[in-house]
Amino acid sequence: MRSIVIVGGGTAGWSAAACLARFLAKRGTAITLVKSSAIGTVGVGEASVPNIQNFNRYVGLSERDFISGANGTFKLGIRFDDWVRHGSSFFHPFGGYGLPFEEVEFHHCLNRARELGDRLDLADYSLPVAMARSARFSQPSPDNRSPLGDFGYAYHFDAGLYAQQLARIAKSAGVREIDARICGVSRRPSDGWIEALELENGARLAADLFVDCSGFNALLIGKALETPYEDWSRWLPCDRAVAVPSAPTTGELPPYTVARALEAGWSWRIPLQHRIGNGYVYSSRHIDAEAATERLLASLPSPPVGEPNHLRFQAGMRASFWTANCVALGLAGGFIEPLESTSINLVHRGLSTLMDFYPQHAFDPRQIAAANRRFRAEQENIRDFIILHYWASSRNDTAFWRQFRDMSLPQSLSDRIDSYLACGYLEPWFADSFKAESWLTMFEAFGLRPAQSDSRVLDIDMDAVRRALPQIKAAIATGAAQAPLHAEFMARNFSREAVPPNKSLQEA
Ligand SMILES: Cc1cc2nc3c(=O)[nH]c(=O)nc-3n(C[C@H](O)[C@H](O)[C@H](O)COP(=O)(O)OP(=O)(O)OC[C@H]3O[C@@H](n4cnc5c(N)ncnc54)[C@H](O)[C@@H]3O)c2cc1C
Repeated sequence: MRSIVIVGGGTAGWSAAACLARFLAKRGTAITLVKSSAIGTVGVGEASVPNIQNFNRYVGLSERDFISGANGTFKLGIRFDDWVRHGSSFFHPFGGYGLPFEEVEFHHCLNRARELGDRLDLADYSLPVAMARSARFSQPSPDNRSPLGDFGYAYHFDAGLYAQQLARIAKSAGVREIDARICGVSRRPSDGWIEALELENGARLAADLFVDCSGFNALLIGKALETPYEDWSRWLPCDRAVAVPSAPTTGELPPYTVARALEAGWSWRIPLQHRIGNGYVYSSRHIDAEAATERLLASLPSPPVGEPNHLRFQAGMRASFWTANCVALGLAGGFIEPLESTSINLVHRGLSTLMDFYPQHAFDPRQIAAANRRFRAEQENIRDFIILHYWASSRNDTAFWRQFRDMSLPQSLSDRIDSYLACGYLEPWFADSFKAESWLTMFEAFGLRPAQSDSRVLDIDMDAVRRALPQIKAAIATGAAQAPLHAEFMARNFSREAVPPNKSLQEA
């Protein structure tokens, strides 16, 4: 394993370059990244999940540098408007609820208290929800057993600027960058594995391992190796998006994304430092591009500062993300609509998978198969989580929403729903980006309740639980009120004065 070629200079390509440069720093592997400025990148993607913190730490990008360099803001979760029914709203926080009692999970205790007649709202037991309701933000308390400590957070950011930050890290670690269009892929006659890439300038680029980050082009994994694409549009019918940025607004800075269910899909609103990202993800069978654009423009929170950007996609994944000596990441490997901001996360999870199964000497088909099993689970778990948002909705007002009423679910999702409905079972699954509490949020928000709780609730002192519940709720409300407004937090820590230009934020 002496050389790697990464194809693509979008978020996926530069994530791979920065990560593999760190991973292989002691092995002397030569890493080259080829991209074409003439082709460009997708240029949307502004929200993340907490795992990005682990990735940034691994590649050596501090939170301060990341936030100021990518015009970032903090994200406690997503507010889902009009999803359960028209006029409804719930919040998906990155964090748990309440505290376990005598080692029995909080939601079982809450359900038992409900059975005993208490009217309780799970959301009242989450600090990120309480902070989000008043546009406040603070980082978790270091004591993660406290209800003020048990939550995570992510970011909103400009993915183009993020890619530039990763490019600087990768290049300073020795990654070579070539700007040229790839016009051919030559394969070994013996086994069909990729031998070299042919560039428009006539150069030939050979390597042991190729990482395909060529976006929807899927130049290597799709076009050259013909790895089939599994189509998931029968569950996730949205196949288009229109995105347009608008001017930043003064005043409140929400520390969350808003995802609003619309007639033929849903819209996003993402507050960055320098703009608000807006988009409408829709099904082209139910609305055309012109009407979707009009709908989006009519609902902007501030004047547009760019032209509408139209994107097409098909929900699905490659049958194997690792085929022969090629690993596909990002849009080349598959796409799940950005309802839970998971694409860049999947790039990072794909890189973790590649590192865990990276060959020491030669490629072993068993290693490749194991990596493919894990990454398939990563993608299918996210797919199932997204399908749940549509399937569990009671909306019935348009043909788009009615199609989900009779939809048959993937078995893996039916199994999960069944185990929750039977007894509130929420154990974490293998390779799941979303923790049990995220699934709990969805089940609760959409009114799916277990037929019975874990039988251990029969052994605990429910009088003590019922006395403690109002205290936890009050502690969370007090904790949230003490947090600064998100806008103040940003101004205090990330204003131009707080961080002089060209100076590392760690030094500042
Ligand atoms: C509507 C929409 C909203 C999204 N929102 C989010 C979000 O909120 N959060 C999130 O995490 N993700 C989001 N994503 C996904 C995110 O934008 C992408 O996953 C991410 O940017 C990675 O893209 P990429 O690097 O795979 O592909 P691209 O950005 O398309 O990059 C492809 C690269 O390949 C190169 N290339 C292609 N063909 C050739 C060739 N022949 N020769 C040389 N080079 C070539 C190009 O030059 C380019 O550098 C969203 C995506 C869409 C469509």
